[in-house]
Amino acid sequence: MQLNQDNFNQDELLDCYQQVLSKLQDANRLAGTASAASLLAVSKTKPAAMIRSLFLAGQTDFGENYLQEALGKMADLQDLPIVWHYIGSIQRNKTKDIARHFDWVHTLEREIIAKRLNEQRAGLPPLNVLIQVNIDDEDSKSGCQVDEVDGLVQAVMTCENLRLRGLMVIPKKSGSDAFLRTKQIFDDVAIRHNPLNWDSLSMGMSEDMASAVANGSTMVRVGRAIFGDR
Ligand SMILES: *Cc1c(COP(=O)(O)O)cnc(C)c1O
Repeated sequence: MQLNQDNFNQDELLDCYQQVLSKLQDANRLAGTASAASLLAVSKTKPAAMIRSLFLAGQTDFGENYLQEALGKMADLQDLPIVWHYIGSIQRNKTKDIARHFDWVHTLEREIIAKRLNEQRAGLPPLNVLIQVNIDDEDSKSGCQVDEVDGLVQAVMTCENLRLRGLMVIPKKSGSDAFLRTKQIFDDVAIRHNPLNWDSLSMGMSEDMASAVANGSTMVRVGRAIFGDR
């Protein structure tokens, strides 16, 4: 993985950040829900110096997809109380570092991975976990199938070092009702299982932020619109 140059235009970065924040603010206002969706800044392939600038501008939560790259940046930024989210696919041999170094995981899709994260998180505050659902049933996408959500919810609820917070989806590009269907699954789980901290729906990126927020997203994941192309 090639990291981009460390020299970047700080004014441009902060400008893009403010634009994304104001788009999100508009989406939140339109949706009119009580609790506003928050912004997860997706910093994969971008240097620690950019993360530092954004943190100093008020951004606390960052998402990373590649473990080794993320661990390097965490070391560079250990003086800052950043909230780190793992949003990449989880290989079995990577669970220990994910469990030890991240605050959130958005991409849990298998029970065996939940068990490993749970064991390896021991001694630390609970790891916040979202179940990724393959909401459009695409061969190319990760995530559990819709009919596997209940089983996975029940399995994670028994893990004392995991705090099950909600669901994450990456719908098909074409406009669909995927956000609405995800919200329905989210609400159904609340009724059937009533997990204690069930409060998060990670959905929506730069282009579909408004629609995601209108359908109940509590966290949008935005990379390029903030950091520029990768
Ligand atoms: C990279 C990534 C994003 C951000 O995508 P951009 O196109 O950079 O905004 C959001 N969610 C996930 C899971 C990603 O891997």
